[in-house]
Amino acid sequence: MSKTMKKRLVIIGSGPAGLSCALSALKNGIPKENILVLEREEELGGTLNLCIHAGFGKDNKTGTELATELADKVRNAGITCMTSTTVLSIDKRKIITLISPELGYTKITAEAIVLATGCRERSRGGLSIGGTRPAGILSAGTAQRFINLEGYMPGAKTVVVGTTDLALVIARRITLEGGQVVFVCDSKKKPQSERVKVGECLDYFNIPLKLHTTITRIFGKDRIEGVEIAELDKKGRPIKETKERVECDSLVYSCGFIPENELANSLGIEMRQSTHGPRTTRKMETSIDGIFSCGNSRMIHEDVDDIILDGKKAGKFVAEHLKSLKEDKKKKKEKKQ
Ligand SMILES: Cc1cc2nc3c(=O)[nH]c(=O)nc-3n(C[C@H](O)[C@H](O)[C@H](O)COP(=O)(O)OP(=O)(O)OC[C@H]3O[C@@H](n4cnc5c(N)ncnc54)[C@H](O)[C@@H]3O)c2cc1C
Repeated sequence: MSKTMKKRLVIIGSGPAGLSCALSALKNGIPKENILVLEREEELGGTLNLCIHAGFGKDNKTGTELATELADKVRNAGITCMTSTTVLSIDKRKIITLISPELGYTKITAEAIVLATGCRERSRGGLSIGGTRPAGILSAGTAQRFINLEGYMPGAKTVVVGTTDLALVIARRITLEGGQVVFVCDSKKKPQSERVKVGECLDYFNIPLKLHTTITRIFGKDRIEGVEIAELDKKGRPIKETKERVECDSLVYSCGFIPENELANSLGIEMRQSTHGPRTTRKMETSIDGIFSCGNSRMIHEDVDDIILDGKKAGKFVAEHLKSLKEDKKKKKEKKQ
């Protein structure tokens, strides 16, 4: 049987956006007992927990250090956080249905909700590589999880497709862990990441970079055994004469991120086509009164500092919203008397 709880503010997602939103709401006058953070993973911190490399925040922390710092601040402030808890749905009256190992199916009625559900990677479809679907083809984020969290390598000889920050970071990580990155390639003429990042992650480790090059075929039935690559002509078509077979036992791709917005979509929140995130007001409120959005679920941010700032702003605005609700209630009560 489902139970119903009440909370003034529920924040969904405990990445840098959700945690900084919780701290900011507290700072802006919402008592700790009125704030609840819900997180489907076992740990607080969101995607930062996958990032064991440095380069986060002003002090160049690792992602995991920054996640721990934010999570400690939230816990030490006495804000309740429920981990291993997945929000299944929200309705327009702000009734949240969740499932958690301790509570089972539970409903929470909130006065305000902040969606801080982050982003996910674009799928292999974004690569437009036809052919078979053998084992050994995985996204950069999955490779990051396997290596950094679960402690095993996706393969011994890897081709990396894409030159996003994440692709470069994973190419470096595979090399540091003793794997071989045969090359990193991108169909674009320039890397998608900054030149300095290419230097730090690829040049320094002698990882070859092939630009304006694509994968035209994947070989292997049960497990990937190799790929066919080709340079591209001016119109972006593979040049037949440059086709070459390269042996590998794994292919890691990174096609960029897309905001995670299943909950917002199912609620009928108005979305912005350009960002794939909810359309928000200057005060970060979505098209549904009292439902706010921040971080990478609102729009993809390049820098974690900007995500933290986004979360802080959402915390301030949602606190203002809750205060005005309280004042309205008070006024109504006074009128009745
Ligand atoms: C696979 C992957 C790898 C990445 N690697 C890097 C990297 O190496 N470097 C970098 O700078 N950036 C990386 N990013 C980008 C990263 O998303 C941001 O750096 C930053 O963590 C985003 O902060 P956020 O708080 O908006 O979202 P996140 O940190 O993603 O946090 C969102 C949280 O919401 C939770 N959540 C989502 N839906 C629900 C639900 N229904 N119920 C309960 N909880 C829910 C998720 O479990 C998650 O913990 C990566 C992103 C992905 C998807």
